[in-house]
Amino acid sequence: MLVNYTPLKRGRAKDEHAPYESGMPDRAVLVYANKIKPLFPGSVIVLGGIEASLRRFAHYDYWENKVRRGLLLDSRADILVYGPGELQAIEIARRLEASQDLSGIPGTCLVKRELPSRFQEIPSFEDVSSSPGQFCRAQNSFSNRKHLAQRHDNRYILQYPMPDYRTEDLDWIYGLPFSRKIPPQFPEFQMAQFSIVTHRGCIGRCSFCSLSLHQGDRIVSRNEESILEEIRRLTRHPRFKGYIDDLGGPTANMYGMDCKAGPTCERDCLGCRTLDRSHRRLVHLMKQARQIPGVKKVFVRSGIRYDLAMESEEYLKELSDHHLSGLLKVAPEHVSRGVLRLMNKETRPLEEFRRLFKRINKGRKQHLKYYLMVAHPGSGKKEAQELAGEVRRLEKEGEKPVEGVQIFTPTPMTRSTCMYYTGLDPATGEKVFVPRTFSEKKEQKRMLISLPKKY
Ligand code: SF4
Repeated sequence: MLVNYTPLKRGRAKDEHAPYESGMPDRAVLVYANKIKPLFPGSVIVLGGIEASLRRFAHYDYWENKVRRGLLLDSRADILVYGPGELQAIEIARRLEASQDLSGIPGTCLVKRELPSRFQEIPSFEDVSSSPGQFCRAQNSFSNRKHLAQRHDNRYILQYPMPDYRTEDLDWIYGLPFSRKIPPQFPEFQMAQFSIVTHRGCIGRCSFCSLSLHQGDRIVSRNEESILEEIRRLTRHPRFKGYIDDLGGPTANMYGMDCKAGPTCERDCLGCRTLDRSHRRLVHLMKQARQIPGVKKVFVRSGIRYDLAMESEEYLKELSDHHLSGLLKVAPEHVSRGVLRLMNKETRPLEEFRRLFKRINKGRKQHLKYYLMVAHPGSGKKEAQELAGEVRRLEKEGEKPVEGVQIFTPTPMTRSTCMYYTGLDPATGEKVFVPRTFSEKKEQKRMLISLPKKY
Protein backbone atom coordinates (compact mmCIF):
# COMPACT_ATOMS: atom_id res chain seq x y z
CA MET A 1 0.00 0.00 0.00
CA LEU A 2 2.92 2.35 0.63
CA VAL A 3 4.28 1.61 -2.84
CA ASN A 4 0.92 1.97 -4.57
CA TYR A 5 -0.38 5.11 -2.82
CA THR A 6 0.90 8.56 -1.86
CA PRO A 7 0.55 9.68 1.79
CA LEU A 8 -2.68 11.43 0.67
CA LYS A 9 -3.97 8.06 -0.62
CA ARG A 10 -3.62 8.97 -4.31
CA GLY A 11 -2.73 6.09 -6.60
CA ARG A 12 0.96 6.59 -7.52
CA ALA A 13 0.23 5.34 -11.03
CA LYS A 14 -1.92 8.44 -11.54
CA ASP A 15 0.42 10.78 -9.66
CA GLU A 16 1.08 13.70 -12.11
CA HIS A 17 4.43 14.55 -10.50
CA ALA A 18 6.00 11.13 -10.00
CA PRO A 19 3.87 8.46 -11.72
CA TYR A 20 4.91 4.98 -10.60
CA GLU A 21 3.52 1.60 -11.62
CA SER A 22 4.60 -1.08 -9.09
CA GLY A 23 2.92 -3.91 -10.96
CA MET A 24 1.81 -5.24 -7.56
CA PRO A 25 -1.84 -5.52 -6.48
CA ASP A 26 -2.93 -3.74 -3.29
CA ARG A 27 -2.28 -5.95 -0.25
CA ALA A 28 -0.13 -8.14 -2.44
CA VAL A 29 0.60 -10.81 0.21
CA LEU A 30 -3.11 -11.43 0.72
CA VAL A 31 -3.89 -11.56 -3.00
CA TYR A 32 -1.03 -13.94 -3.85
CA ALA A 33 -1.70 -16.28 -0.89
CA ASN A 34 -5.39 -16.52 -1.74
CA LYS A 35 -4.55 -17.24 -5.39
CA ILE A 36 -1.98 -19.94 -4.56
CA LYS A 37 -4.12 -21.96 -2.13
CA PRO A 38 -6.80 -23.15 -4.64
CA LEU A 39 -4.22 -23.63 -7.39
CA PHE A 40 -1.92 -25.82 -5.26
CA PRO A 41 -4.16 -27.71 -2.81
CA GLY A 42 -2.19 -29.06 0.14
CA SER A 43 0.70 -26.65 -0.43
CA VAL A 44 2.26 -24.99 2.60
CA ILE A 45 2.31 -21.18 2.33
CA VAL A 46 4.94 -19.28 4.33
CA LEU A 47 4.44 -15.52 4.56
CA GLY A 48 7.46 -13.24 5.01
CA GLY A 49 8.75 -9.75 4.35
CA ILE A 50 7.82 -6.34 5.74
CA GLU A 51 4.08 -6.50 4.86
CA ALA A 52 3.60 -9.81 6.68
CA SER A 53 5.90 -8.77 9.54
CA LEU A 54 3.98 -5.61 10.41
CA ARG A 55 0.52 -7.06 9.85
CA ARG A 56 1.13 -10.13 12.01
CA PHE A 57 -1.32 -8.93 14.70
CA ALA A 58 -4.57 -6.95 14.44
CA HIS A 59 -3.54 -3.59 12.99
CA TYR A 60 -4.85 -0.23 11.86
CA ASP A 61 -5.03 -0.06 8.07
CA TYR A 62 -4.78 3.60 7.03
CA TRP A 63 -6.01 2.96 3.51
CA GLU A 64 -9.25 1.31 4.72
CA ASN A 65 -9.32 3.43 7.86
CA LYS A 66 -10.16 0.43 10.03
CA VAL A 67 -8.58 -2.28 12.19
CA ARG A 68 -7.87 -5.43 10.21
CA ARG A 69 -7.26 -8.95 11.52
CA GLY A 70 -3.78 -10.47 11.67
CA LEU A 71 -2.64 -11.38 8.13
CA LEU A 72 -2.48 -15.14 8.77
CA LEU A 73 -6.25 -15.26 9.19
CA ASP A 74 -7.15 -13.34 6.03
CA SER A 75 -4.48 -15.04 3.88
CA ARG A 76 -5.22 -18.63 4.95
CA ALA A 77 -1.44 -19.13 4.92
CA ASP A 78 0.14 -21.75 7.18
CA ILE A 79 2.89 -19.82 8.95
CA LEU A 80 4.20 -16.25 9.06
CA VAL A 81 7.84 -15.27 9.39
CA TYR A 82 8.54 -11.83 10.86
CA GLY A 83 11.83 -9.96 10.61
CA PRO A 84 14.59 -10.78 8.11
CA GLY A 85 13.76 -14.52 8.16
CA GLU A 86 16.76 -16.52 6.86
CA LEU A 87 17.10 -18.73 9.94
CA GLN A 88 13.33 -19.23 10.15
CA ALA A 89 13.10 -20.26 6.46
CA ILE A 90 15.83 -22.89 6.92
CA GLU A 91 14.13 -24.35 10.01
CA ILE A 92 10.73 -24.44 8.27
CA ALA A 93 12.24 -26.23 5.25
CA ARG A 94 14.01 -28.71 7.54
CA ARG A 95 10.77 -29.48 9.42
CA LEU A 96 8.75 -29.88 6.24
CA GLU A 97 11.34 -32.24 4.83
CA ALA A 98 11.10 -34.31 8.02
CA SER A 99 7.26 -34.01 8.01
CA GLN A 100 7.48 -32.37 11.42
CA ASP A 101 5.05 -29.87 12.99
CA LEU A 102 5.82 -26.17 12.46
CA SER A 103 5.05 -25.06 16.03
CA GLY A 104 7.60 -23.24 18.15
CA ILE A 105 9.94 -21.92 15.47
CA PRO A 106 11.53 -18.69 16.81
CA GLY A 107 10.59 -15.65 14.74
CA THR A 108 7.32 -17.08 13.41
CA CYS A 109 3.60 -16.77 14.04
CA LEU A 110 0.93 -19.47 13.83
CA VAL A 111 -2.83 -19.71 14.31
CA LYS A 112 -3.98 -22.07 17.05
CA ARG A 113 -7.29 -22.82 18.81
CA GLU A 114 -5.64 -23.28 22.23
CA LEU A 115 -3.61 -20.74 24.24
CA PRO A 116 -0.36 -22.37 25.44
CA SER A 117 0.63 -21.40 29.01
CA ARG A 118 3.88 -19.51 28.41
CA PHE A 119 2.25 -16.99 26.09
CA GLN A 120 1.40 -13.44 27.23
CA GLU A 121 -2.09 -12.65 25.97
CA ILE A 122 -2.49 -9.14 24.50
CA PRO A 123 -5.89 -7.43 23.91
CA SER A 124 -7.92 -9.34 21.34
CA PHE A 125 -8.85 -8.27 17.82
CA GLU A 126 -12.36 -7.53 19.10
CA ASP A 127 -10.96 -5.42 21.98
CA VAL A 128 -8.56 -3.33 19.90
CA SER A 129 -11.25 -2.79 17.25
CA SER A 130 -13.68 -1.34 19.78
CA SER A 131 -11.51 0.42 22.38
CA PRO A 132 -8.68 2.97 21.80
CA GLY A 133 -7.38 2.18 25.30
CA GLN A 134 -7.12 -1.51 24.46
CA PHE A 135 -5.44 -0.65 21.16
CA CYS A 136 -2.79 1.28 23.13
CA ARG A 137 -2.35 -1.62 25.55
CA ALA A 138 -1.70 -3.97 22.64
CA GLN A 139 0.77 -1.47 21.17
CA ASN A 140 2.69 -1.30 24.44
CA SER A 141 2.92 -5.10 24.54
CA PHE A 142 4.55 -5.53 21.14
CA SER A 143 8.10 -6.90 21.37
CA ASN A 144 10.16 -9.32 19.30
CA ARG A 145 11.51 -10.82 22.51
CA LYS A 146 8.22 -12.24 23.83
CA HIS A 147 5.77 -15.14 23.43
CA LEU A 148 2.65 -13.14 22.56
CA ALA A 149 -0.88 -14.32 21.81
CA GLN A 150 -3.85 -12.39 20.40
CA ARG A 151 -7.35 -13.86 20.26
CA HIS A 152 -9.40 -13.39 17.11
CA ASP A 153 -12.87 -14.81 17.84
CA ASN A 154 -12.16 -18.49 18.75
CA ARG A 155 -8.57 -18.68 17.56
CA TYR A 156 -5.22 -17.24 18.65
CA ILE A 157 -2.37 -15.73 16.68
CA LEU A 158 0.74 -16.92 18.50
CA GLN A 159 4.12 -15.15 18.15
CA TYR A 160 7.33 -17.03 19.03
CA PRO A 161 10.21 -14.70 20.04
CA MET A 162 12.71 -13.70 17.37
CA PRO A 163 15.82 -15.91 17.12
CA ASP A 164 19.07 -14.17 18.13
CA TYR A 165 20.74 -13.38 14.85
CA ARG A 166 24.45 -13.32 15.65
CA THR A 167 27.46 -11.91 13.83
CA GLU A 168 28.28 -15.37 12.45
CA ASP A 169 24.77 -15.67 10.99
CA LEU A 170 25.07 -12.38 9.13
CA ASP A 171 28.59 -13.23 7.94
CA TRP A 172 27.28 -16.52 6.59
CA ILE A 173 24.23 -14.91 4.93
CA TYR A 174 26.16 -12.07 3.27
CA GLY A 175 28.95 -14.49 2.36
CA LEU A 176 26.58 -16.36 0.04
CA PRO A 177 27.33 -16.06 -3.71
CA PHE A 178 24.58 -13.55 -4.60
CA SER A 179 24.48 -12.78 -8.35
CA ARG A 180 23.72 -9.07 -7.73
CA LYS A 181 21.87 -9.09 -11.03
CA ILE A 182 19.19 -6.37 -10.92
CA PRO A 183 16.19 -7.31 -13.15
CA PRO A 184 15.75 -4.61 -15.83
CA GLN A 185 12.19 -3.85 -14.68
CA PHE A 186 13.57 -2.55 -11.36
CA PRO A 187 15.82 0.35 -12.43
CA GLU A 188 15.35 2.00 -9.02
CA PHE A 189 17.46 -0.78 -7.46
CA GLN A 190 20.45 -0.16 -9.72
CA MET A 191 21.85 2.26 -7.14
CA ALA A 192 22.04 -0.61 -4.62
CA GLN A 193 23.78 -3.11 -6.90
CA PHE A 194 27.16 -2.66 -5.17
CA SER A 195 25.98 -1.73 -1.70
CA ILE A 196 27.25 -3.48 1.42
CA VAL A 197 25.22 -4.25 4.54
CA THR A 198 27.44 -3.90 7.60
CA HIS A 199 24.86 -4.53 10.33
CA ARG A 200 21.18 -5.04 11.11
CA GLY A 201 18.81 -3.41 13.55
CA CYS A 202 18.47 0.17 14.77
CA ILE A 203 18.60 1.49 18.33
CA GLY A 204 16.78 4.71 17.43
CA ARG A 205 13.25 3.48 18.26
CA CYS A 206 11.59 6.36 16.41
CA SER A 207 7.83 6.16 16.94
CA PHE A 208 6.92 6.34 13.23
CA CYS A 209 9.42 3.68 12.17
CA SER A 210 8.66 -0.02 12.07
CA LEU A 211 12.26 -1.21 11.79
CA SER A 212 12.61 -2.07 15.48
CA LEU A 213 9.71 -4.54 15.16
CA HIS A 214 11.05 -5.96 11.91
CA GLN A 215 14.86 -6.10 11.96
CA GLY A 216 15.01 -5.44 15.73
CA ASP A 217 16.04 -2.67 18.13
CA ARG A 218 19.50 -4.10 18.80
CA ILE A 219 22.56 -3.83 16.56
CA VAL A 220 24.02 -7.03 15.14
CA SER A 221 27.24 -6.20 13.28
CA ARG A 222 29.17 -8.35 10.83
CA ASN A 223 32.83 -9.17 11.33
CA GLU A 224 35.09 -6.64 9.61
CA GLU A 225 36.91 -9.39 7.65
CA SER A 226 33.59 -10.76 6.32
CA ILE A 227 32.69 -7.28 5.00
CA LEU A 228 36.13 -6.70 3.46
CA GLU A 229 36.01 -10.14 1.82
CA GLU A 230 32.61 -9.27 0.30
CA ILE A 231 34.07 -6.05 -1.13
CA ARG A 232 37.03 -7.99 -2.56
CA ARG A 233 34.54 -10.35 -4.25
CA LEU A 234 32.68 -7.34 -5.70
CA THR A 235 35.86 -5.99 -7.26
CA ARG A 236 35.82 -9.14 -9.40
CA HIS A 237 32.20 -8.57 -10.54
CA PRO A 238 32.09 -7.92 -14.34
CA ARG A 239 30.01 -4.75 -13.89
CA PHE A 240 31.95 -3.32 -10.94
CA LYS A 241 33.43 0.10 -11.82
CA GLY A 242 35.31 0.72 -8.57
CA TYR A 243 32.47 2.30 -6.60
CA ILE A 244 30.81 0.81 -3.52
CA ASP A 245 27.31 2.38 -3.68
CA ASP A 246 26.76 2.33 0.07
CA LEU A 247 28.42 0.95 3.18
CA GLY A 248 25.93 0.79 6.01
CA GLY A 249 22.64 -0.44 7.44
CA PRO A 250 19.29 1.04 8.44
CA THR A 251 21.32 3.83 10.08
CA ALA A 252 24.84 4.04 8.64
CA ASN A 253 26.76 4.91 11.82
CA MET A 254 25.49 2.21 14.17
CA TYR A 255 27.98 -0.42 12.98
CA GLY A 256 29.85 -1.80 16.02
CA MET A 257 27.24 -0.61 18.56
CA ASP A 258 26.47 -4.20 19.51
CA CYS A 259 25.91 -4.99 23.17
CA LYS A 260 26.27 -8.34 24.93
CA ALA A 261 23.15 -7.65 27.00
CA GLY A 262 21.23 -6.98 23.78
CA PRO A 263 19.12 -10.12 23.33
CA THR A 264 17.50 -9.96 26.80
CA CYS A 265 17.67 -6.27 27.70
CA GLU A 266 14.45 -4.22 27.17
CA ARG A 267 16.02 -0.84 27.99
CA ASP A 268 16.65 2.02 25.53
CA CYS A 269 20.25 1.88 24.22
CA LEU A 270 20.43 5.56 23.27
CA GLY A 271 20.02 6.53 26.91
CA CYS A 272 22.38 3.85 28.22
CA ARG A 273 26.00 4.41 29.32
CA THR A 274 26.95 0.85 28.35
CA LEU A 275 26.49 1.64 24.66
CA ASP A 276 29.80 2.00 22.78
CA ARG A 277 29.40 5.32 20.90
CA SER A 278 33.07 5.64 19.95
CA HIS A 279 32.54 4.71 16.25
CA ARG A 280 35.99 3.07 16.61
CA ARG A 281 35.08 -0.14 14.73
CA LEU A 282 33.31 1.84 12.00
CA VAL A 283 36.21 4.22 11.39
CA HIS A 284 38.60 1.25 11.19
CA LEU A 285 36.30 -0.54 8.73
CA MET A 286 35.99 2.55 6.52
CA LYS A 287 39.79 2.94 6.39
CA GLN A 288 40.29 -0.74 5.47
CA ALA A 289 37.49 -0.79 2.89
CA ARG A 290 38.80 2.09 0.81
CA GLN A 291 42.28 0.58 0.64
CA ILE A 292 41.10 -2.58 -1.15
CA PRO A 293 42.68 -2.82 -4.63
CA GLY A 294 40.08 -2.06 -7.33
CA VAL A 295 38.04 0.19 -5.06
CA LYS A 296 38.03 3.84 -6.18
CA LYS A 297 35.51 5.11 -3.63
CA VAL A 298 33.28 3.73 -0.86
CA PHE A 299 30.13 5.87 -0.58
CA VAL A 300 27.99 6.20 2.52
CA ARG A 301 24.52 7.06 1.20
CA SER A 302 22.40 5.74 4.08
CA GLY A 303 21.34 8.35 6.62
CA ILE A 304 23.27 8.78 9.86
CA ARG A 305 22.05 9.38 13.41
CA TYR A 306 23.59 12.85 13.90
CA ASP A 307 23.40 12.96 17.71
CA LEU A 308 25.44 9.74 17.86
CA ALA A 309 27.85 11.00 15.20
CA MET A 310 28.58 14.04 17.35
CA GLU A 311 30.24 11.66 19.79
CA SER A 312 33.11 11.16 17.31
CA GLU A 313 34.61 14.05 15.38
CA GLU A 314 37.09 11.56 13.93
CA TYR A 315 34.20 9.63 12.38
CA LEU A 316 32.62 12.79 10.91
CA LYS A 317 35.99 13.83 9.50
CA GLU A 318 36.62 10.40 7.92
CA LEU A 319 33.12 10.43 6.49
CA SER A 320 33.44 13.94 5.05
CA ASP A 321 36.99 13.43 3.73
CA HIS A 322 36.46 10.10 1.98
CA HIS A 323 32.89 8.76 1.80
CA LEU A 324 30.39 11.43 0.76
CA SER A 325 29.28 12.56 -2.69
CA GLY A 326 28.70 16.16 -1.53
CA LEU A 327 25.64 15.15 0.49
CA LEU A 328 25.05 13.74 3.97
CA LYS A 329 21.54 12.58 4.93
CA VAL A 330 20.30 13.36 8.43
CA ALA A 331 16.80 12.88 9.81
CA PRO A 332 15.86 15.58 12.35
CA GLU A 333 12.23 15.13 11.18
CA HIS A 334 10.96 18.13 13.18
CA VAL A 335 12.02 20.97 15.50
CA SER A 336 9.00 21.31 17.80
CA ARG A 337 9.85 19.81 21.21
CA GLY A 338 6.32 18.43 21.61
CA VAL A 339 6.37 16.65 18.25
CA LEU A 340 9.93 15.37 18.79
CA ARG A 341 8.86 13.91 22.14
CA LEU A 342 6.00 12.00 20.47
CA MET A 343 8.38 10.88 17.70
CA ASN A 344 10.83 9.71 20.42
CA LYS A 345 13.43 11.86 18.70
CA GLU A 346 14.44 14.22 21.47
CA THR A 347 18.09 14.47 20.52
CA ARG A 348 20.87 17.10 20.69
CA PRO A 349 19.93 20.34 18.88
CA LEU A 350 20.32 20.12 15.09
CA GLU A 351 22.13 23.49 15.15
CA GLU A 352 25.01 22.01 17.17
CA PHE A 353 25.50 19.31 14.55
CA ARG A 354 25.25 21.78 11.64
CA ARG A 355 27.98 23.96 13.14
CA LEU A 356 30.25 20.93 13.68
CA PHE A 357 29.63 19.62 10.14
CA LYS A 358 30.29 23.06 8.64
CA ARG A 359 33.53 23.41 10.60
CA ILE A 360 34.76 19.99 9.46
CA ASN A 361 33.81 20.77 5.86
CA LYS A 362 35.03 24.37 5.74
CA GLY A 363 35.80 25.36 2.13
CA ARG A 364 34.21 22.20 0.70
CA LYS A 365 30.91 21.69 -1.17
CA GLN A 366 29.39 19.24 1.32
CA HIS A 367 25.70 19.70 2.13
CA LEU A 368 23.24 18.21 4.56
CA LYS A 369 20.02 16.64 3.22
CA TYR A 370 17.34 16.82 5.87
CA TYR A 371 14.50 14.33 6.28
CA LEU A 372 11.57 16.32 7.65
CA MET A 373 8.08 15.03 8.42
CA VAL A 374 4.84 17.00 8.50
CA ALA A 375 1.41 16.08 9.88
CA HIS A 376 2.79 13.65 12.46
CA PRO A 377 0.50 13.24 15.50
CA GLY A 378 1.05 16.23 17.80
CA SER A 379 1.80 18.52 14.86
CA GLY A 380 -0.83 21.26 14.64
CA LYS A 381 -0.64 24.61 12.84
CA LYS A 382 1.67 26.10 15.52
CA GLU A 383 4.14 23.25 15.28
CA ALA A 384 4.03 23.34 11.47
CA GLN A 385 4.76 27.07 11.57
CA GLU A 386 7.70 26.39 13.92
CA LEU A 387 9.12 23.89 11.42
CA ALA A 388 8.44 26.24 8.49
CA GLY A 389 10.30 28.99 10.37
CA GLU A 390 13.33 26.72 10.77
CA VAL A 391 13.19 25.81 7.09
CA ARG A 392 13.10 29.47 6.07
CA ARG A 393 16.08 30.14 8.36
CA LEU A 394 18.08 27.29 6.80
CA GLU A 395 17.16 28.50 3.30
CA LYS A 396 18.46 31.97 4.19
CA GLU A 397 21.76 30.25 5.03
CA GLY A 398 21.86 28.76 1.55
CA GLU A 399 20.60 25.27 2.40
CA LYS A 400 17.83 23.28 0.64
CA PRO A 401 16.02 21.70 3.59
CA VAL A 402 12.74 20.95 1.79
CA GLU A 403 14.21 18.29 -0.50
CA GLY A 404 13.33 15.56 1.98
CA VAL A 405 9.87 16.60 3.23
CA GLN A 406 7.33 13.83 3.67
CA ILE A 407 3.78 13.70 4.98
CA PHE A 408 3.43 11.20 7.86
CA THR A 409 1.86 7.93 6.67
CA PRO A 410 0.43 5.58 9.35
CA THR A 411 2.02 2.18 8.67
CA PRO A 412 0.91 -0.88 10.64
CA MET A 413 2.27 -1.58 14.12
CA THR A 414 4.11 1.68 14.83
CA ARG A 415 3.53 3.81 17.94
CA SER A 416 2.79 6.84 15.74
CA THR A 417 0.07 4.87 13.94
CA CYS A 418 -1.38 3.99 17.33
CA MET A 419 -1.48 7.75 18.12
CA TYR A 420 -3.03 8.46 14.71
CA TYR A 421 -5.78 5.88 15.12
CA THR A 422 -6.57 6.35 18.82
CA GLY A 423 -5.75 10.05 19.35
CA LEU A 424 -3.85 8.89 22.44
CA ASP A 425 -0.14 8.71 23.30
CA PRO A 426 0.27 4.99 24.17
CA ALA A 427 3.18 5.85 26.50
CA THR A 428 1.11 8.21 28.71
CA GLY A 429 -2.52 7.69 27.71
CA GLU A 430 -2.73 11.45 27.15
CA LYS A 431 -4.83 12.91 24.30
CA VAL A 432 -2.79 13.89 21.21
CA PHE A 433 -3.84 16.29 18.44
CA VAL A 434 -3.89 14.41 15.10
CA PRO A 435 -4.07 16.19 11.72
CA ARG A 436 -6.28 13.77 9.80
CA THR A 437 -7.89 15.72 6.97
CA PHE A 438 -6.23 16.00 3.57
CA SER A 439 -6.45 19.81 3.76
CA GLU A 440 -4.62 19.88 7.15
CA LYS A 441 -1.87 17.61 5.81
CA LYS A 442 -1.54 19.49 2.52
CA GLU A 443 -1.50 22.82 4.37
CA GLN A 444 1.37 21.66 6.62
CA LYS A 445 3.38 20.54 3.59
CA ARG A 446 2.54 23.73 1.68
CA MET A 447 3.83 25.82 4.61
CA LEU A 448 7.23 24.13 4.28
CA ILE A 449 7.67 24.12 0.55
CA SER A 450 5.72 27.35 0.00
CA LEU A 451 3.68 25.89 -2.83
CA PRO A 452 1.15 28.17 -4.56
CA LYS A 453 -2.23 28.17 -2.63
CA LYS A 454 -4.09 26.20 -5.39
CA TYR A 455 -2.00 23.05 -4.93
S1 SF4 B 1 22.66 -2.65 28.26
FE1 SF4 B 1 22.33 -0.66 27.35
S2 SF4 B 1 23.40 -0.71 25.39
FE2 SF4 B 1 23.13 -2.81 26.09
S3 SF4 B 1 21.27 -3.55 25.12
FE3 SF4 B 1 20.72 -2.76 27.15
S4 SF4 B 1 20.17 -0.63 26.81
FE4 SF4 B 1 21.29 -1.32 25.01
